Amino acid sequence: MASGLVNRPGTGIVSAPVVRTCVGCRKRAAASELLRVVATAVADQASPGGAVAVGSPEWRLVPDHARRLPGRGAHLHPDPACFAQAERRRAFGRALRLTGVVDAGPVAAYVEAFGHAVGGARPPGDAR
Ligand SMILES: [Zn+2]
Repeated sequence: MASGLVNRPGTGIVSAPVVRTCVGCRKRAAASELLRVVATAVADQASPGGAVAVGSPEWRLVPDHARRLPGRGAHLHPDPACFAQAERRRAFGRALRLTGVVDAGPVAAYVEAFGHAVGGARPPGDAR
């Protein structure tokens, strides 16, 4: 697994399009069309004693639209439908090799905002 992808800003020269698979619909698309999602560890702020409450998130998924954050990334169409599919299958946890509770709130907010932004162009009745 090569994760040494480097974005070279400013050149506009792309030798070969980078293709990634959406963790929601599993379709392949250019990486530039997909939202990169990375996981960050949630600081253990609630339980200084060390006991982690059941159900408290251990990982937070954050949208990395600039594709600059380090670490493993999952790719998703910035589409609420794809997000819902990925959530249902726990595809983020699998793609990012996460164990424990994953909080996808920030990504949910992102795709929702994105969905609203392009909502007018969506065919009615296409979702779910
Ligand atoms: Zn998709």
